[in-house]
Amino acid sequence: MLGFDMKVYENVSLKNFSWIKIGGNCKKVIELENSIELVEQVKSLIRNNEKFELLGLGANTLFSDNGIDCTLLKLKSNNIKIGIEGLDRELLKEKAQKTKKVFRHEVFQNSKITSGYRKDDLKYDEGNAEDILVEVDAGVNLPYAINHLIAKGVTGLQTFAGIPGTIGASIYNNIHSNDSLLSDLVYSVKALDKSGNEHILRFDQIDFDYNHSTFQRDDLIIVSAVLHLKLGDKDRALHASIEWTKRKSSQPKNSLGSVFHNLDKETQQRVGFEIASAAYIIEHKLYLSGYRVGDIMIPEQTPPDQMQVNKNIFMNMGDGKAADFLTVMKKVRSEAYEKFGIKLKPEIFFKGFDPEEIEIFFN
Ligand SMILES: Cc1cc2nc3c(=O)[nH]c(=O)nc-3n(C[C@H](O)[C@H](O)[C@H](O)COP(=O)(O)OP(=O)(O)OC[C@H]3O[C@@H](n4cnc5c(N)ncnc54)[C@H](O)[C@@H]3O)c2cc1C
Repeated sequence: MLGFDMKVYENVSLKNFSWIKIGGNCKKVIELENSIELVEQVKSLIRNNEKFELLGLGANTLFSDNGIDCTLLKLKSNNIKIGIEGLDRELLKEKAQKTKKVFRHEVFQNSKITSGYRKDDLKYDEGNAEDILVEVDAGVNLPYAINHLIAKGVTGLQTFAGIPGTIGASIYNNIHSNDSLLSDLVYSVKALDKSGNEHILRFDQIDFDYNHSTFQRDDLIIVSAVLHLKLGDKDRALHASIEWTKRKSSQPKNSLGSVFHNLDKETQQRVGFEIASAAYIIEHKLYLSGYRVGDIMIPEQTPPDQMQVNKNIFMNMGDGKAADFLTVMKKVRSEAYEKFGIKLKPEIFFKGFDPEEIEIFFN
C-alpha cells in the first residue's frame, strides 16, 4: 500500500489486467481509485524519472508475451459529478452544427450485407431536452457511468452501452457506436502532459476523429472529462441502453473488439468495395473466417439466418499468445495489401513489444 491506500501488485501477470487474458509479467501495477490519486502518482513518477504506462479496463490493449518493463497505472474510479457550472449554450449549438458523422453506416444502408444487428430503431433525437454538464473521472467504467446517469435522469450516453472500457481510454480513442462518436458529447477534458503540467482543453481545442484524438497525438494523460448530456427521457434511454447491450453481446467477448480500422472514404472509393468495414474485407474479400494460429482465431462463417459475428474481432480460444495474435494480424494485413493494395491500420493498442515486432502495422 502507498499513501492514499493505493493497491500495488508486484511481479504480476498482465493476463489479470487484460480483457483478452494475454500478456507476460509486469514488475509493478498501481491501482488508482480516483483522479486525485492519478495526478499525485503521475507527478511523483515523473519526479523520480520512472517510466510508466496507463491502463483502463484493458479492453483495447494487447500486451506482449514478454510483459512490460515499467510501472503500469491502472485507473479505476466511481467519481461522477452531475450539474457542473460553465455551460456555454451558444458554443454547444455551434458544436452540434460541426459534428462529424461516421460514414460507414450510410454505406451499410445501401448494401445487401448487414453488420449483424439492427441499429436504426433505437436512434432518437434528444435535441429539445435540457443540457447538463457532468464531470467524470478518467477511470470511471463506461457501463457504470451509463447506468448511474440514467438512474439520475441524465441521458445521452446510452448509444455506447455494451462497450467495455473506461471513460478516459474511450475519449483517448474516441470510441464509436452506431453512427455516434464519443467526441459528440465531450465538453472539456483535464489532462496532464508528460512533464506533469495540467491543461484543461475545451472541445474546440481538441482534434477528434474516428478512433483518434489530440490525446494520442500529443501523448497526454486524461485525468477527467466534462460531458454535455441531457435531462432526457430516462425510460427511453434505459430501454435503448439495455437493447444495445443485448445486441452487442452477440459479438465475441474474449477479444479486444475490432482489430483494424474500417477503410477511409478515399481508399474505399479506390478499391470500389460496397462497404468500408474491415470485417467485410476479412470475410468476403480475403475469405479468412475461421483462420486460426494457436489459440487465436478469427470467428467462423456465420450461417446467413443467424446473428452475424464480426470477423474483425479476433478471439482468444483459451491460452492465446500475443505472438499468435500478431501472426493473425500480419496474415490479414499482408493479404489485404497483396490482393487490393490496402494498408489496414490497427484499432488496438500495443504495450511491451519491440518496435520491429509491430512496425509493419504502421507503415
Ligand atoms: C467485446 C468488445 C466490444 C467492443 N466494442 C467497441 C465498440 O462498439 N466501439 C468502439 O469504439 N470500441 C469498442 N471496443 C474497444 C474498447 O472497448 C474501447 O476502445 C474502450 O474505450 C477501451 O477502454 P479501456 O479502458 O479498456 O482501454 P485500455 O485498453 O485500458 O486502454 C487503451 C489505450 O488508452 C490508453 N489510456 C487509458 N486510459 C488513459 C488515460 N486516462 N489517458 C490517456 N491514455 C489512456 C492506454 O494506455 C491504451 O493505450 C470493444 C472491445 C471489446 C472487447
